[in-house]
Amino acid sequence: MACTVTYIYKFQGFIDVLVGFISDVHANAVALRTVLKDMESRGVRDIYNAGDVVGYYPYPDETVGLLKASNVKSIQGNHDRAVLDAHTERMNPWASSAVHWTANHISADTAGYLASLPVSLNFQIMGMRCSMHHGSPLDPDEYIYPQNADQDLLDLCDAKLLVLGHTHVPFAKETEKGVVLNPGSVGQPRDGDPRSSYAIFDSEKGIFQHIRVPYDIGFVQDAVRKAGLPASLAERLAQGW
Ligand code: ZN
Repeated sequence: MACTVTYIYKFQGFIDVLVGFISDVHANAVALRTVLKDMESRGVRDIYNAGDVVGYYPYPDETVGLLKASNVKSIQGNHDRAVLDAHTERMNPWASSAVHWTANHISADTAGYLASLPVSLNFQIMGMRCSMHHGSPLDPDEYIYPQNADQDLLDLCDAKLLVLGHTHVPFAKETEKGVVLNPGSVGQPRDGDPRSSYAIFDSEKGIFQHIRVPYDIGFVQDAVRKAGLPASLAERLAQGW
């Protein structure tokens, strides 16, 4: 069963709009399909994705197909960029190996989609200014955790809501200037809970929720081994790191 953690925020709109946030899918299409179904069942209308569409898992083309079919608005993460330019110097050997595997297995359409993604996106939810970046507004490779998610980041992009990914660790931190949100990772959670993570903002109630959804991890682990991807990428899925 899916479960939720709720944060109440003071921004409230008059019309009830449910907006979904995802990040770090990493070509785990099995997890993404489960998350999209869960969002649909809750009536989520618009979905934003904070990057790392691919890298790590063996379903890059299927993942892009699902994102397109659900009209998800995505930005580019460091793994998406690495698949296109082959620069993996800052990555560990397993991540680098998966990036090269992905570059050799994606369709031309998927490569074109990844290349078309912006590195950041500014948008509004019921008048609330939002800004989405993969790592931080300064650097797509920077790791922002609750400890260093301060209001200067919101000032940098003149936003009330800053959406980040990259760490694979879900949090919502309220500051005087607004909220810094990481929806957690759909494809490879790293907070000890192996279930997929995503977030919803309810504009009528002013509520952020993190939602965890179980999916068929064993199926993806088998596919990782069959694809010849590093075995550690299969093992870590069951442990949530
Ligand atoms: Zn990632």
